[in-house]
Amino acid sequence: MNADEDEGLLPTKTFAELGLSSKVLAAIEAAGYTVPTPIQAEAIPVALTGQDVLGIAQTGTGKTASFVLPMITRLEAGRARARMPRSLILAPTRELAAQVAQSFEKYGVQHKLTLALLIGGVSMDDQVKRLDRGVDVLIATPGRLLDHYQRGRIMLMGVEILVIDEADRMLDMGFIPDIEKICKLLPPKRQTLFFSATMPPEIQRLVDNFLVNPAQIEVAKPATTVKSITQRFQFCRDGEDWAKREALRKLMRDEDVRNAIIFCNRKRDVAILHKSLLKHGFNAGALHGDMDQKSRTETLDAFRAGRITVLAASDVAARGLDIPEVSHVFNFDVPWAGDDYVHRIGRTGRAGREGYSGTLVTADDLKLVKEIERVTGEQPTWIGEPPTEQDYAESGRRRRGRRGAKPEERRAGTRQGAAGERRPRRERPRREKAPAPAEAAPQLAAEPAAEQREAPPRREKERAKPRPAETRPAPEREARQPRERRPEPRERRPETAGVGFADKVPAFMRKPVRIAKAANE
Ligand code: AMP
Repeated sequence: MNADEDEGLLPTKTFAELGLSSKVLAAIEAAGYTVPTPIQAEAIPVALTGQDVLGIAQTGTGKTASFVLPMITRLEAGRARARMPRSLILAPTRELAAQVAQSFEKYGVQHKLTLALLIGGVSMDDQVKRLDRGVDVLIATPGRLLDHYQRGRIMLMGVEILVIDEADRMLDMGFIPDIEKICKLLPPKRQTLFFSATMPPEIQRLVDNFLVNPAQIEVAKPATTVKSITQRFQFCRDGEDWAKREALRKLMRDEDVRNAIIFCNRKRDVAILHKSLLKHGFNAGALHGDMDQKSRTETLDAFRAGRITVLAASDVAARGLDIPEVSHVFNFDVPWAGDDYVHRIGRTGRAGREGYSGTLVTADDLKLVKEIERVTGEQPTWIGEPPTEQDYAESGRRRRGRRGAKPEERRAGTRQGAAGERRPRRERPRREKAPAPAEAAPQLAAEPAAEQREAPPRREKERAKPRPAETRPAPEREARQPRERRPEPRERRPETAGVGFADKVPAFMRKPVRIAKAANE
């Protein structure tokens, strides 16, 4: 018996038993999938009947196929009409929307379904032409969709199936009012497939208002996926960034890194780290929300294809993106929220593979490490010298000051580290709340709230010269651009990513599915 088999797994259904069309089954076979994941096994048969589905599942569980496959089967019958999409998928970010489009291309190879993608940051001319001709599937971010609707370019009363993907992320990004508006524009007689990794009250309210008698299907939570990841922490007593970069290089060289994502808390640090990695001979790229859509897509494609093996990234890359087979995740900075840690390291150890995460921790970060302990329920395993009790105690005290330093240290502009060395103080910003609906109304270019947490500049060696642009907080979440300033035409036809778990659904994905509320109960 192998490790997969002794965990009380559900009896495995086959794809053929789920009721999908023969064309869809052929595409699944071509994709190399042999066994449905739990969310697929439970959601697909329900979705095929036309009933609403509430899927509580995060990325990495196979949730995309759990709505795309039944949608394709259902859309086989019928034809698209001009400007009236037959189905609508709302995703919180451009990247996620593009990934869903890739899934349609992958699973819809046997079909002639037409698709349009309305996402921020790219020109819409081609997409609008497609809409004019009529599309079966419209994939959009909420703001972009409303924008087109308000200009009279689309009519939504032909939508038979609505998918809301990553609803909790929509909440983080302030999109709930947009979602509500959109739901009210759709015909009441439709099917809604709704996915969220968590169910905070605002999301539950949305479900109560816009879903009818949904089958609720819940699959394993992030904490479960973390088990296949070896998590290590390294205490960097000297908290300066150059020392952290040195520690990072050592960590990377000590590990057999096939490919890695290195997370920074601030987008400007992504750029600095990226430069430094290149200088030290790493095959590195950078990904953050200040980059235009084209560069982001190119970087991600290069990373997926292995042309870049190390990606310095801000949290824009942490959630939702389907970047399979990342062997290592490094946290150059400890994330400010424990759940961001879980999301970041969830980029490795995906789909049951072994993963490794290494987190660099300065004295200031020890409070945050406590938060990570709380969220993951695990004690950190330290590489090298661990922090002392006193380090922990001092970390708490430091954070009470305006900039994490005691008043006399603030005056001096330095503070004594635990080892007695002088070093510049660091500043840590507070996490910004999601904007109020009025601010949030613009189509945001798909950046997570984490990206708004821009800190004032740190005084570091490499920033000896003042850089005025860096002294201002620069929220990475872009506001909706005035119409006339929209970027120019570029059609986004994503490549099909060669992804999947080869022929096997790993153990964690086969953990029991809880059907909390079944149909018509
Ligand atoms: P998702 O949760 O939709 O982001 O999917 C995560 C990954 O699982 C993607 O790379 C999919 O291609 C892959 N995948 C989805 N369903 C299966 C399956 N039944 N067997 C193997 N891989 C799958």
